[in-house]
Amino acid sequence: MPELPELEVLKEILDSQIKDKVILNFVVLKPYVLKNFFQGDLAGHTVRHIQRQGKYLILELDFLCLIIHLMLRGSLKFLLPGAKIKRSAAAVLEFTDHSRLEFSEIGHKKRMSMYILPNQVTLKQIERLGSDPFDNDFTVSKLSNILNLKARQLKSLLRDQTKICGLGNAYTDEILWLARLSPFKISTKLSDDEIKKLYSAIRNVLEGAIAIIREKGISEKRTFLQIHNKKGKLCPRCEEPIQYVSFSNSDTYYCPKCQTSDRKLKDRRLSKFYR
Ligand SMILES: [Zn+2]
Repeated sequence: MPELPELEVLKEILDSQIKDKVILNFVVLKPYVLKNFFQGDLAGHTVRHIQRQGKYLILELDFLCLIIHLMLRGSLKFLLPGAKIKRSAAAVLEFTDHSRLEFSEIGHKKRMSMYILPNQVTLKQIERLGSDPFDNDFTVSKLSNILNLKARQLKSLLRDQTKICGLGNAYTDEILWLARLSPFKISTKLSDDEIKKLYSAIRNVLEGAIAIIREKGISEKRTFLQIHNKKGKLCPRCEEPIQYVSFSNSDTYYCPKCQTSDRKLKDRRLSKFYR
């Protein structure tokens, strides 16, 4: 699933490709993708601004906005005039210069979502989003408040979009590895020093990923990741083999030496007592 770094770069790319373009038409080819009832017309609207909120991309038009959540396998592609539309395309936004933006989703899950709403209306899901790691008010003390709200396992808290938004399975593994913290450490039990390390790790991992993605382009493979999806490979820091454990329907990767005092974690559905 695309997370904050991919979406931030996608926002920048869209900004250079479609900002200030005027919409000729918007065609929904797979009706499931549009999640709200919309009877109007986007024709004539100019793309005024593109923003990212958590994992949502928002195209602000004249008085409407088009909100997009790519979920696991959704994608956007800018097409020059005359380029062919994929059979799997779910929706197409065409501009007056006949360039197009194609929205598609791989697989059959049909989870990508789009909404068309008046500018001043926000989605409930967006209203509920927690702090964005790139917000000016996302400071060490803000992070400390979030961690201390309630005792939660770190990985699960970092992925909770209502607390911190934009992080998912891959980057939380990277962040916790960089901060040398166990994915299952309890959020209220971090020392001040650990909170500072976690804060810097969040910023460093995201900023590093954005820089690489800007240079190399958006790819699902994310070959630059240090430990996520690297089970059995050696930890780049201590050369211990990376381990993984199944957790809340996702795979968590970690280095036992760097993060869990040499303990191998058990499946969390079975064991509650590791930290
Ligand atoms: Zn290590």
